[in-house]
Amino acid sequence: MTMISDSLQAVQANIQCAKMNANRQDAVKLLAVSKAQGAERLREAYVAGQTAFGENYVQEAIVKQSQLGDCDIEWHFIGPIQSNKTQLIAQHFSWVQSVDRLKIAQRLSHARGDSLPPLNICIQVNTSNEASKSGIDSQALIELATAIKALPHLTLRGVMAIPAPTKDTARQHEQFTVVRMAFNALQERGFDVDTLSIGMSDDYVAAIAEGATIVRIGSAIFGARTPIKKNEE
Ligand SMILES: *Cc1c(COP(=O)(O)O)cnc(C)c1O
Repeated sequence: MTMISDSLQAVQANIQCAKMNANRQDAVKLLAVSKAQGAERLREAYVAGQTAFGENYVQEAIVKQSQLGDCDIEWHFIGPIQSNKTQLIAQHFSWVQSVDRLKIAQRLSHARGDSLPPLNICIQVNTSNEASKSGIDSQALIELATAIKALPHLTLRGVMAIPAPTKDTARQHEQFTVVRMAFNALQERGFDVDTLSIGMSDDYVAAIAEGATIVRIGSAIFGARTPIKKNEE
C-alpha cells in the first residue's frame, strides 16, 4: 500500500506541473479531503506537511478534530448542509465551501458570532443547471453573494463546484469553464473574491488549467474510501 506521504508528494508534483503548463504563478491550495479516514491517517498527512483538511460529515469531523487537537489544522466543511447542523459547522470550521441558500448563510453567520474571526464562505454553484443537482445557477449566484456580503460574521471568498464525474477531459474543461465564468462574474460585479474551488482526484489537472485556486483531493491521497454508512448524520 502506498504511504500517504508518497501520495501527497505525487499530488503536489502534479499540481506544480499543471500550474507550469497553464503558465500560472499564483498559489493553488491542496485541500486533503479526509471523509471516511480515521484520525491517525489525517495525522500521517499532517506530519508530512498537509495542513488543510476537508470534511463532509459534521459529527465525524468533530470526533477527528478532538483527536487532532494538538495539530494546527485549517478545517473546511464541504458537504451538504442541513440547517440543524449550522451551529456546529460555524463553531468547528474556518471555511464552509458548500453554501447554496440564504437561510443557511444567515444561520451560519448568526452561529459564528463575535468570538471567532469571520467564517470563510464559498457559494456552491451548479455546472449543469439541473434542478436535481445541489448548487445554484449563475443568476441566483449574484443575489446570494450580495446577501452574504451583508452578513456580519461571514467573508465571501468565492465559488465551489462538484461537476458530474467524467474521464472525458474535454467535458471536464467544459464544466469547469462554467464555474470559472461564474467566479469571473462575481469579480466583474465588484465582489472581492479570490477562491475558485474546483478539481478532485480525477480532474484536478483540468481544474488547474481552468484557474482552480483550491483543489479538493481525497482518494489520490488516502486511497479508495469504504462507503460511509447512511445513518452517519
Ligand atoms: C469526496 C469529495 C472530494 C474528493 O473526492 P476524490 O475523488 O476522492 O478526490 C472533493 N470534494 C467534495 C465535495 C467531496 O465530497
